[in-house]
Amino acid sequence: MAMYGTAGKLRSLCLNLFNGDNHSVDMGVLLNTDDEHRKIVFELLRSYELNGESDDDFMDLCIEIQAKRAEAEKATANYAVHTRRNTGDIVRLDANSGFCNQSGDYQITDGVEPAVCKHCKNTDCREWPNLERLDHSWQTTGEYAYDVPECSMHDHSD
Ligand SMILES: [Zn+2]
Repeated sequence: MAMYGTAGKLRSLCLNLFNGDNHSVDMGVLLNTDDEHRKIVFELLRSYELNGESDDDFMDLCIEIQAKRAEAEKATANYAVHTRRNTGDIVRLDANSGFCNQSGDYQITDGVEPAVCKHCKNTDCREWPNLERLDHSWQTTGEYAYDVPECSMHDHSD
């Protein structure tokens, strides 16, 4: 874990040299590490002093680190926290939640078992096949939304 942490800080240093406005690094913490990593820090700084951003290997490394971090952030976002729902629950849907034409409050209706969500990586997320839209006095309207995953349901507005 400590080694991984240091490697991560070295990557942060690369990004800091590459684009200091968007990436910060705690040099104190970074230098207060084992000799091997400290040596890498100074080699990296020395190389940057000599070559700056004309060092293709350094630039490739930075671009690779940036891409990996963006990917990791995206993966985390895909595990979005959501609330488990049940038949009879009333939820708020946006017009782009599953197959839903109109935003509003919908009730999850009986009948068919929910399926595993295909939209996020949260294995607990379920996609409900049928939801009926409710009007302002919460009467059923006969209009349905279909295949709406829990990750795109919101608590209803009341
Ligand atoms: Zn989902």
